[in-house]
Amino acid sequence: MTKHEAKQRIDKLKKEIEHHRYLYHVLDKAEISDAALDSLKNELVQLEEQFPELVTSDSPTQRVGGEALSTFAKVEHQTPMLSLNDAFSEEDLQAWVERLQRLDPAAAAKLDFFVETKIDGLAMSLIYENGVLTIGATRGNGRVGEDVTHNIRTIESVPLRLRPIPGRPLPARVEVRGEVYLTKKMFAQINAQRKKNDEPLYMNPRNTAAGSIRQLDPKMAAERDLQFLAYALPTDFGQKTHKEEHELLQILGFRTDPDDRFCTSLKEVIQFYHAIAKKREKLSCQIDGIVVQVNSNALFQRFGMVGKAPRGAIAVKFPAEQATTVVEDIQVQIGRTGALTPVAHLRPVQVAGSTVSRATLHNIDEIHRLGLKIGDTVIVEKAGDIIPDIVQVLPNLRTGRERTFRMPKTCPVCGSQTTRKASEVAYYCTNSACFGQQKERFYHVVSKKAFDIDGLGPKIIDQLLETQLMSTPADIFTLKEEELLQLEGFAEKSAQNLVNAIQVARHISLARFIFALGIRHVGEQTAVMLAECFGSFKKLQQATREELEAIHDVGPAAAESLRAYFADTANQQFLEQLLPLITITAPKKIRNSKLAGKSFLFTGSLQSMTREDAKNRVRELGGTVISTVSKQLDYLVVGDEAGSKLEKAKKLGITTLTEKVFLHMIRES
Ligand SMILES: [Zn+2]
Repeated sequence: MTKHEAKQRIDKLKKEIEHHRYLYHVLDKAEISDAALDSLKNELVQLEEQFPELVTSDSPTQRVGGEALSTFAKVEHQTPMLSLNDAFSEEDLQAWVERLQRLDPAAAAKLDFFVETKIDGLAMSLIYENGVLTIGATRGNGRVGEDVTHNIRTIESVPLRLRPIPGRPLPARVEVRGEVYLTKKMFAQINAQRKKNDEPLYMNPRNTAAGSIRQLDPKMAAERDLQFLAYALPTDFGQKTHKEEHELLQILGFRTDPDDRFCTSLKEVIQFYHAIAKKREKLSCQIDGIVVQVNSNALFQRFGMVGKAPRGAIAVKFPAEQATTVVEDIQVQIGRTGALTPVAHLRPVQVAGSTVSRATLHNIDEIHRLGLKIGDTVIVEKAGDIIPDIVQVLPNLRTGRERTFRMPKTCPVCGSQTTRKASEVAYYCTNSACFGQQKERFYHVVSKKAFDIDGLGPKIIDQLLETQLMSTPADIFTLKEEELLQLEGFAEKSAQNLVNAIQVARHISLARFIFALGIRHVGEQTAVMLAECFGSFKKLQQATREELEAIHDVGPAAAESLRAYFADTANQQFLEQLLPLITITAPKKIRNSKLAGKSFLFTGSLQSMTREDAKNRVRELGGTVISTVSKQLDYLVVGDEAGSKLEKAKKLGITTLTEKVFLHMIRES
């Protein structure tokens, strides 16, 4: 990047960040997430580091803290409300402990910690005089905050009068610090109401809590049912550790983090971090990490400050699930049914702990909905193991050199014409012998839910196709060790293993076989229904359209697609070649099973079998497996650490089964 280009980008970034800062801090509104805004700031920091001569005093990187709104009385904090330094990984945490150990090797030997979750709310200072709540103030810039006592008083979890501590006199002035926040449930309710009233939706619970606490009218805060969780007691009660501080807070009448814990080693801290990350989604409030601090108050004081933050504590954040980056190109990928999927090629960026360089755009309508052009700066989001999505375009950052994407008129792999059916959003390659489609069909045939062939991945399939050792998926079942040995990376042992795996896989259930054919609109569950209703592949091949449509779960689109598949001569030839090479097992007759005709859904993890095995057992016994909780569901099987599905099922009055009862049920059947 030249200096001139950097300056242009810096100017745009500054304007954009300022726009979001104003929305967020002044109007308590947000158009983009914190993580996305952080990501923009981060890009600015890096550009300014690269070109230090471009740093100006009005850059958001030069700002320290926010100012109180003038509509509220100002409150000076007797001891400043500090912010914490952030860590983003286990390594950062390790480095923090090592720094403390170097600073004070003598103390390091007896270093222990207190850990708690970091709620995504607003830091608050409460002052009690002679036991009575007199001031509730926001953090503000750390030294001076805003007096929001009238709203704090509406929070039920804030005691208006402190409870006495047996055997200890109450100091005349007591300060308690904690977090004001909104539960996820309340947040959803508020947004549902706003949607009804056609009002703009709130971005996140923290923002909404901030908006509520800074209302001039306390009725609004009361309606929002804000919560308070205490985490510090700056007043001296003679406490020696942070653990003791939490205990005292409880006696005084405050709620503290129910997950908080005393840890004797860094190892235990790391275990806590992972345990919280795992249960994060299930907590009633939004959290963005954990807070770790040196348990001994004396040591905490001795470690002192670094910049504006104490050395003895650190916030360990969870990886951000959103980040901003630039779409460098949009390319088209071809699927096994011939559908063309546009894929965004991104400037690599860290999201949720891994580097992301591609995001699916699903179809052309999605690109239009986002208003996306090649060259745009975008927000990418990743949740769990799901493929990242582009959720928003930031058009203010455009330079004018962005390009509009158009679906290609010809297939990028085989050059055939592409078409779009009137009823569908996707474009298709019209050539069913297209190499791009063919490859994808091979990948599908060997996949977990189809033939499930261990060791036959995309790389090997590509090689087998390129060397023309295979031309149809039927050729998989005649592969020989000698042939595999011609390929790069194969030794005698690995070739033998793969041939053995193929031998095992040639025995397949009817349902899996139907699914393996990769017929459009015929998913896993439809394949199971077809297998059960027809009982043999031959009967399915001969079925009329009416017979197919009569089956529950098989819609007109799937029926039409099945008919077209079996009528195609290329497919007929393929089946003639394939069928003698494999053994299809018909489903057992299951009329007397208790599970027949019943629907099941699983939540949480099972101890005695995998989720996939449990689903298969249900299907073998004539039950169906559905994917969401609805009134149509007969049984919810509840494993360990069950999620929101359980709550929903309870509300709908659906029968729940423990793993033990479920096992009993399948044994009886
Ligand atoms: Zn093609």
